[in-house]
Amino acid sequence: MPTLFPEIPWYWYLVSQVGAIFAIWIYGSFAEWCLHRFIMHSKFIPRFPFEKHALIHHKLFRGDESFTASTDEQMHHVSFNWYDHVTLNLIHLGLFAGLEYVTGLPILIGCMIGVASYLIAYESIHYIFHVPGNRFFEKHRWFEWLREHHQIHHKQHFRNLNVVLPLADFVLGTRRSPSVLVDSESTSA
Ligand SMILES: [Zn+2]
Ligand SMILES: [Zn+2]
Repeated sequence: MPTLFPEIPWYWYLVSQVGAIFAIWIYGSFAEWCLHRFIMHSKFIPRFPFEKHALIHHKLFRGDESFTASTDEQMHHVSFNWYDHVTLNLIHLGLFAGLEYVTGLPILIGCMIGVASYLIAYESIHYIFHVPGNRFFEKHRWFEWLREHHQIHHKQHFRNLNVVLPLADFVLGTRRSPSVLVDSESTSA
């Protein structure tokens, strides 16, 4: 049964939902990696994510000074469309409603908070990478590290596929640091 109002103590309900948020952030790193590698950088059906990301975003933003947006055309191609977010949230809503139904665990609300927050983090961080300002955290070492991580991806399209949480890049062996950059690995798709 769906467990929106489960007959369990409130604290176990809270532990389950908060645990789901953390679990989704781990899942989010691998889901982001797969989406980026196999849909946004593969001539997959539907083809529009490949065209919008691999052909347009990567053509406008390269690993050099063009990594920072300076034209209207670049500004137009920084972010996902709103319907990409609606689609991803709806897919996960169905997936995690099914998981809650099957397991009986109260996780759906936590899972959807996790999915929505990961997507918001993706859009915000990726936007700030390409459209920097004077935000207080942009000079922090961790943010500069993450920004450089993504800039390397714009040089080597099958490396550093994570934007938010590079866990999957480390686990799956696609993390590249500036010291091991090899120009010949650069690809266009
Ligand atoms: Zn980018
Ligand atoms: Zn990419």
